[in-house]
Amino acid sequence: MVHMATSILSDSSKFVFSAIREEDDFAEGLRRQGKQVVKLSSGDPALYYPTPKYIVDAYAQALTNGKTSYSRSQGVMELVDAITGRYKARYGIGITEEDVMVTSGVAEALTFLNSALLNPGDQAVILKPYYPQYPVAIQMFGGSYLAGDYDESNEWGIKLDALARLVRSRKASSKRIKYMLVTNPNNPTGTVLPRRALQEVVDLASEHRILLVSDEIYDEIVFSGAEFTSIGELAKGIPHVILNGASKAFDATGFRIGYVLIPEDDRASDELKHKITDYCRVRLSANTPAQYAIASAMGNSAEHERTVRKMIEAIEGIVDTAMKQLGENQYLSAVRPNGAFYIFPRIDMSSLDLKDDREFVHRLLEEKLVQTTRGSGFGAPSHLRIVALAPKELMGDCVQRINDFCKDHAK
Ligand code: PLP
Repeated sequence: MVHMATSILSDSSKFVFSAIREEDDFAEGLRRQGKQVVKLSSGDPALYYPTPKYIVDAYAQALTNGKTSYSRSQGVMELVDAITGRYKARYGIGITEEDVMVTSGVAEALTFLNSALLNPGDQAVILKPYYPQYPVAIQMFGGSYLAGDYDESNEWGIKLDALARLVRSRKASSKRIKYMLVTNPNNPTGTVLPRRALQEVVDLASEHRILLVSDEIYDEIVFSGAEFTSIGELAKGIPHVILNGASKAFDATGFRIGYVLIPEDDRASDELKHKITDYCRVRLSANTPAQYAIASAMGNSAEHERTVRKMIEAIEGIVDTAMKQLGENQYLSAVRPNGAFYIFPRIDMSSLDLKDDREFVHRLLEEKLVQTTRGSGFGAPSHLRIVALAPKELMGDCVQRINDFCKDHAK
């Protein structure tokens, strides 16, 4: 047997890690001991709300119709047309067929995008707290990230002055910023950015000629009183990329359907469009029957509106109940989310006999059988991400367990 002196792994593979799933093995072990663990760690609506029947039926129909081969790499035309129709109808944005690339979720889109854009040493601007895949995907390809901040004391709005300073600071460095990414609505804070704040980000990107990327995967999961704006409405004439998919709004996470939109036709946008198409071709195609099912779902706006509305109303009710109960907990304080399905309280670690949010999450799982995620995994230490999707009663019971856990660990 040949022994290797050094690791067989690449240097960049050390960045590949999922904070969201890091307690999964431990939770599985508890389940094997016969314990009932409640999973409030996965942003997966289909775990609690079965994917709507009309979408499941469309998937079955696609299989029956023999849609089982590889398909057009950038996406079947039925889905591409449904996506352009969706953005036109919802946001008034004109996107042509060549601007659309269907991927296996936004997850795959992020790896394509970072691989296509980053040379070792390049930078990307993201905002904290961030979705954990962003830094992974950036660093996987030798890039590094500059992190601006969402401001917890201002309802998690963007700290624009600080962001502008951060972008300007790169002039003092030899590194090149390749893109700036915003997530709206946000995971993990549930913030829906006001149109004005988004406009400021667009202006900043335009001033510094930085490609803007907008992850709009939660675009439809918006609570009463809040309004979502697509970056495409504001960034006309400015190079930008929109990421979206079927996972959340169509409650179809396991279908693995996402898409990249590159609406502009400047040189950078054209280059990127063609290169992402090459990435799509190299990996052959996305899931074919799932594409037909989502195309059909996007074309059935009456059924879609009915089912998504029901889900959003349920989520908002769950969030309200959980927020009320969390209000009784003096060790946690949370800004009310106005979209997505996350609650992201700050933990007053100094009042608890626990070292950090990692220990908080691990012990909460061990002692109260509730699986959550540590805020430090999102770049925000001393926070806790709770997924607000479990039915009201179960959610109420879990928040009670979280409250009891904090009392058990009060100094
Ligand atoms: N982007 C954000 C902000 C997310 O929260 C998620 C999933 O939770 C994803 C992307 C991944 O989505 P997909 O299922 O399309 O890969």
